[in-house]
Amino acid sequence: MTYETVIGLEIHVQLSTRSKAFCGDDIRFGGAPNSQVSAISLGHPGTLPRLNAEQVKFAARLGLALGSTINLGHTFDRKNYFYADLPKGYQITQDARPICVGGSIEVLVGGETKTIRIHHVHMEEDAGKSQHDSADAYSYIDLNRAGTPLLEIVTEPDLRSAEEVDALMTAMRQLVRYLDISDGNMQEGSMRCDCNVSIRPQGATYLGNRCEIKNLNSMRYARKAIEYEVQRQIGVVEAGGKIDQQTLNFDPATGVTSPLRSKEDAHDYRYFPDPDIPPIQLTAAELAAIQAQLPALPWVLRKKMITTYGLSAYNAELLTAEAETAAFFLALSEQTAAYTAAANLIINKVLPWRKEQDKNLDSFPLSAAQLAELIELIETGQVSNSTAYQELFPALVAAPDRRPAELATANGWLQSADADELGSWVDAVLAAHPDKVKAYQQGKKGLLGFFMGEVMKRSKGQAEPKKTTALLQERLG
Ligand code: ADP
Ligand code: MG
Repeated sequence: MTYETVIGLEIHVQLSTRSKAFCGDDIRFGGAPNSQVSAISLGHPGTLPRLNAEQVKFAARLGLALGSTINLGHTFDRKNYFYADLPKGYQITQDARPICVGGSIEVLVGGETKTIRIHHVHMEEDAGKSQHDSADAYSYIDLNRAGTPLLEIVTEPDLRSAEEVDALMTAMRQLVRYLDISDGNMQEGSMRCDCNVSIRPQGATYLGNRCEIKNLNSMRYARKAIEYEVQRQIGVVEAGGKIDQQTLNFDPATGVTSPLRSKEDAHDYRYFPDPDIPPIQLTAAELAAIQAQLPALPWVLRKKMITTYGLSAYNAELLTAEAETAAFFLALSEQTAAYTAAANLIINKVLPWRKEQDKNLDSFPLSAAQLAELIELIETGQVSNSTAYQELFPALVAAPDRRPAELATANGWLQSADADELGSWVDAVLAAHPDKVKAYQQGKKGLLGFFMGEVMKRSKGQAEPKKTTALLQERLG
């Protein structure tokens, strides 16, 4: 029997607001334990939450980008459970009426696009962090994270493999960064996901019982966890067993999932409207203002790069991976019509510069006009591609006030397409190798490369290759 894997994700994204969801505490990552905790974060009785309006804006931004329906009126609920890192005894979340419903996102899986439907997006606050693995006998609790604003994005069970999960997380990370609502950093826990995994016979249309693997904060672990869990479920079913609906933990050290608890039902949480937070009412005008401020979205830009600028799908993907890279290409495309050459220059030279320097592209020292001039030199054959990349580009970056043509001339990097000059190099080379000329004329056409090499040596790399080839072929008959 072959099985199909079915996966739905609950993705948690930490918002990059300045302060927490319901109080003014700083949300910055990495502070000394329990240094960002007011009485509200500590859950002291008698304190009252106050809504941070920025998170509502951020949530609406994401919903609009996903094409969700935005509930102008939405409410916060209490999800009641006991845990030491949740001092209030409940989490403030949205249950009955979340801010965003429906929508979808396009992901790229092995070069193909696939649409994943979104069930809904809701706002909620994060809990604190418990640490049980310290060397001494104690557990530690850090409440800095308690009350941090999160969005939970719940997908429909539309994913079919770990690879698609990876693609979705990549697309979501890209989107929240474009929207400037989160840094999307998985290592620091700003983005993590719960994976709901089930299997069914290939071709079946019903859903099998699922297990939920909690809190995966690295794509590598998510992949391993899903692969392990699918094999485990197939094993159970093949042995005639049934899958128990469970919440699982994944241990990266052993690569094994293990039950955390049996799956709780919604009624276990005793959800009810939070009486401390009045219903939120966005106006249509507020929503329109948020819509008007949406940046160009990654998949829109990707299509534009392919259709308007004629770039390959691969180049378009690389150039839209980050908003600033796409903006950089678009600025350059206003100065040159050689779009593919511009894309290649950015991908092969500018992006490696950014990585090496660990800087943003706004501190790249050359203007779009200078890069366009460099591209012009390549396109017209005045400077060879390799000289432009290996010599001229680094020289310009080191001396950004110089003009590309001027620097190329000063360093002797210009290629010659002058017929007389080319002719004298070609003649000299042919005269020096009469035996090879004979061999060529008797059919050893591969010697053309040898002659090219000799002309390049003699001209110190200044012979323009296309014209040189043509001239060699002409003289050799
Ligand atoms: P709950 O609120 O109990 O966690 P939901 O119905 O809201 O359950 O679903 C949560 C997530 O589980 C969603 O991402 C959904 O797509 C996914 N899911 C639901 N049923 C299945 C299934 N049979 N197999 C895989 N994923 C599923
Ligand atoms: Mg859930």
